[in-house]
Formats: sequence, structure tokens, C-alpha cells
Amino acid sequence: MKRTRIAEILSSENSGTHITVMGWVRTRRDSKGGFSFIEVNDGSCLSSLQVIAADKLPNYENEILKLQTGCSVKIAGALVASPGKGQKIELQADEIEVLGWADPDTYPLQKKRHSFEFLRTIAHLRPRTNTFGAVARIRNAMSQAIHAFFQGKGFIYLHTPIITGSDCEGAGEMFKVTAFNLDEIPKKDGLVDFGRDFFHGPANLTVSGQLEAEIYALAMGDVYTFGPTFRAENSNTSRHLAEFWMVEPEMAFCDLEGDRTLAVEFLKYIFGYVLENCEEDMVFFNRFIDSSVIDTLETLVAQDFEYLTYTEGVKILSEAKEKFEFPVSWGMDLQSEHERYLCEKVFNKPVVLTDYPKEIKAFYMKLNEDKKTVRAMDVLVPKIGEIIGGSQREDDHDILVERIKEAGLNPDDYWWYLELRKFGSVPHAGFGLGFERLIQFITGLANIRDVIPFPRTPGNVSF
Ligand code: ATP
Ligand code: MN
Repeated sequence: MKRTRIAEILSSENSGTHITVMGWVRTRRDSKGGFSFIEVNDGSCLSSLQVIAADKLPNYENEILKLQTGCSVKIAGALVASPGKGQKIELQADEIEVLGWADPDTYPLQKKRHSFEFLRTIAHLRPRTNTFGAVARIRNAMSQAIHAFFQGKGFIYLHTPIITGSDCEGAGEMFKVTAFNLDEIPKKDGLVDFGRDFFHGPANLTVSGQLEAEIYALAMGDVYTFGPTFRAENSNTSRHLAEFWMVEPEMAFCDLEGDRTLAVEFLKYIFGYVLENCEEDMVFFNRFIDSSVIDTLETLVAQDFEYLTYTEGVKILSEAKEKFEFPVSWGMDLQSEHERYLCEKVFNKPVVLTDYPKEIKAFYMKLNEDKKTVRAMDVLVPKIGEIIGGSQREDDHDILVERIKEAGLNPDDYWWYLELRKFGSVPHAGFGLGFERLIQFITGLANIRDVIPFPRTPGNVSF
């Protein structure tokens, strides 16, 4: 079935050409002059194509006058300049074939505004709406941009495992992977006998590809991963998913300053790419979701980010007049209210905070000379808070052993990670970016469940 995509038709506006279009009817309107207007959308772009169906078409009475929102159609005809307002070109139909009907009494997506909550319950149909079509196209463009950015810099795209035997952060919250019959789990001395499970040991879904990315960075220089990660954190927030996508670059011969430079350059590249390549969808988000998104992205591409240390940030926050739900003191983990306050009220731009207390950060982050803080960075943006977490990694073998023990972990479990510090260790650094948080920021969509096709959250695994 040869067809021309509507995006292509609307971008070239070649009137006179004969084409075939396939898609789904958005609306039908009948004119007294003996013809109907049919809006057809095929998902290739936000706009629908206006089709003119004359009453001389053989199936006009029997079929065309019965077309409703959601019906699928195949339409052949000629493109002509449109006399009407709102579009430059329209399709004069020679032939309209109805591929599939959609009963208006039962089709849930009638042409009206639906709440995002309702649309989540029909995730099999929501990509046919303007908002979710636009999200899908932006996601696609951003994925392309991520690869273009890193490939352009000579980074190697690395596939890290989804099933792992190690717990990257050393902090629970993992989904277990097992082939046991859960009704008859083998036990030994009262505990689960993982030795008899598929992998002869416990296994989990990955929470991060970082440790494996470090292995490859220490052989190939610059690498990045871009794949799904999983966290069994039972936090029902608008910023957390149980399954989300993460971008994790890792660079050898790199310190925290280099890491921060890359993170800022990366974000600006993605913002610029979306502004340039997703104009129609961005205008839509700006008009219907958040009227500041285009302005914000344009400013960010041009503007510098604010750099300060955790200690400086805590000082500003503890002197602030604002009443926070969680009072601020040195040593605490900052909450999203604090992160947003710094970005929105103090600096009015994204903030990169560095050098956090070691107690609140992962064991693998490089210890500073003060022995109290680590070379960590969080990139914070208005409205969301943290979107990137990164660090320079500890490259000193003995210090790392101590840090692993301090974290209550067993150095034996990290034998290969430690060997990287024994054989040809080099300074290296990287970060993790939550892909969905970035899409939220770019589109202005308030809930992370609406920027991934099929969200997984506590209680939700349908579709
Ligand atoms: P938070 O404090 O917001 O839970 P985190 O400190 O657990 O984040 P990291 O472990 O540093 O986050 O993960 C790197 C990035 O992955 C974060 O900056 C964020 O953008 C994203 N991220 C983390 N957890 C989630 C989640 N549950 N759903 C979606 N994105 C997430
Ligand atoms: Mn978290």
C-alpha cells in the first residue's frame, strides 16, 4: 500500500500532484453545496489534511456521510491550493475507501477535550490525540538528537545489561529477576536458596548502566548508554516512574569540571535541536500546555547556567525567608522544593550544584580533600528540580574500598569494579540524565506518566 505521509504533503505543498493518503478521520463536516470536509490525521505531524469529498463519489451517501471520528480511510486524489482559511493545501478526493469503522457510540475518543487521567486509562488510543502524538514525535526527535550529540563527539554507544547481579547505588529499590516457581521457592537454612535459581545467585533489573559503562570508558575513552532502567521505589510522584530511560555518558581522562561542561553543552544541544526540528509540536505545547516553554528553551540555549557548591546552596537556602516544608541544614539531601527555589526564585535559571556531603551520595563518587564532600553534581532546572545526577568517580583503589565498607557493602561483590582501579586507573567522570524528566521540562507536561508511551508506576502495568 503506497502512501504519502501528511507531514511530507504539508511541507512541500505541491499542488497538482496525485497522491494516496491513509490515516484516521478526526472530523467530518457536510456542506450544503454537495460535498463534505474530512480532516484526516496520520500521526506524521500535528496537522491534519483537509479532504474534499464531492457527492458524486459512488459511496458518498452510503459510506462517506457515515464517517465518524476514529474511522480509518484510504484516500486517493489531487492536491489543490485551498481557498479556505487555516490551510494552504487540500486534497480533492477521487476515491475514498473506508478501511475500518469506529462506532461513535462506543469509540472513547470523541472530538472533545479529555483529561490526562482519563487518557491514561486508554493508552491504546491516546497516541491518536494531538498531545500524545506530539509527545511521541518529540521523544523520537530527542532520541535522534541524543545519538547525534554523542556520535558527533566520537562517543561509543554502549549496550549495558538489563539484568544484573550488582546493585549500582547500593540502595535497595530493585526489582528481582527470578525463574523460581514463586509458590515453591527453594529454601536453605530458612532463606531463599538463590544458588538454585536461574543465574545461581540473586539477580535484579538494572537501576543504572554506570558501573558497566565505566568498564568500557576505561578501555575506549568516551562511551554512553541510552536505555531502560528500573526502580521499585514506591514514590507516587509526578517525577518518578518504575521504568524509565536513562542517558549515561562516561568519560575517561575527565574530571568534574569536564563532566559539568559536557552536561551543560548536552542540554543546550537538545534544546536547540527541538526548537529547530519540532517547531509545530513545540508551538502546540506552548499554546495548550505551558505558555513559557519556547521562551524558556530559547533563553537556555543562549544563557549560562549558574554554578555553585552544595555548601553555598545550603547557605542561601538557610538564609532564605521562604518557609520550606523540610527545613534546611548542611548534610541533608535537598528536596525538590529547595532545588526549585534555587532555580526559580534565586537565580531564575538552571543551577549546577557540586560537592555534596559524602553521606548522601553514592560510594563511587570521588572524595574531596576535605574528606567530607564528594565530587558530585546535580543539574537542577525550574519546575522539575533534578534532571541530571553525575560525578567524578573515585579512582583511588584504597579509598574506594573504604567507601564501599562505609556504605555497608561488601568489597568482594565489587571485585571487578575495584580491579579497574588497580590496573591502569585514570580520572573519569559521567552523569545520568532521566530522559522522561527532560521531556517533561521541554514540553511542560506536569506528569511524567504522560511523556512515556506506557507508564509503569505503583499499581499500573497495563498495556
Ligand atoms: P530523585 O532524587 O529525583 O529520585 P535520584 O537521585 O534517585 O533522583 P539518580 O539516581 O541520580 O536520581 O538518577 C539519575 C537521573 O535519573 C535523575 O537525575 C533523574 O533525572 C532520573 N530519575 C531518577 N529516578 C527516576 C525515576 N524513578 N523516574 C524517572 N526518572 C528518574
Ligand atoms: Mn530517586
